[in-house]
Amino acid sequence: MKSVLEAKYYIIDMDGVLWHGDRPVPGLVEFFELLNKRDIRFVLATNNASKTPAQFRDKLARMGVDVAEHQIITSAVATAAYLNEVKPQAKVFCIGEDGLVETLTRAGFIHCTEGADFVIVGMDRDLSWEKLALATLNVRAGARLIGTNRDATFPTERGLVHGNGAIVAALEFATEVKAEIIGKPEPIMYIQAMQRLQAEPSRTLAVGDRLETDVLGAIRAGIASVFLLSGVSTLQQLARCDYQPNFIYRDLQDFTRAIASA
Ligand SMILES: [Mg+2]
Repeated sequence: MKSVLEAKYYIIDMDGVLWHGDRPVPGLVEFFELLNKRDIRFVLATNNASKTPAQFRDKLARMGVDVAEHQIITSAVATAAYLNEVKPQAKVFCIGEDGLVETLTRAGFIHCTEGADFVIVGMDRDLSWEKLALATLNVRAGARLIGTNRDATFPTERGLVHGNGAIVAALEFATEVKAEIIGKPEPIMYIQAMQRLQAEPSRTLAVGDRLETDVLGAIRAGIASVFLLSGVSTLQQLARCDYQPNFIYRDLQDFTRAIASA
């Protein structure tokens, strides 16, 4: 893709792109207005499995942006779709918040603390010693270990804190089992998003702030990428990277100006 203007479909990351914690980025409303005006169709795709698509829709509505639930894919939604193919109605033990637990329950998976087929690990701000113990016991008894993502860190208003990948790594260390990962940079979420948009890969653009997930995932899914400097990754990290995004902008406002200039 030679120009961002060639893209008709966007797959947009949320944390560090649309907001930092509960603070929307400047120009958020104008960005979505322009997408509508230009008839650019989009899906929001996040490795963050702590909220349901409905909760993310409500968060955006509070920031003045209306999107539909089906325009949002979380790594929990992608995990449920993946497990459905492998073993429908399996028994699962979850480390995770509403976004993961509710999504899996609604998809027909059965929660248990013992004898699980899968241990699923997503971000959990009520993580406890007991949950880690149950996860370890289940994996040691033969459950498959699944991580919704392997993000090392998570951006908050206070700065970067430990991400889900740090918890997955702890369980891998305790069980000597390597986790299967669903979220970016695995291409699963981007592929599911393109299916929802009925998008051609050559006209699809991934927009994200993290090189090792958003940009690398786009490359693995065979689509172009926009790297925004408003989140986790930096130009210094980009200089050391052996893969590159197609386009780089300072933030969402800068990207909006580029599309608006057409
Ligand atoms: Mg992000």
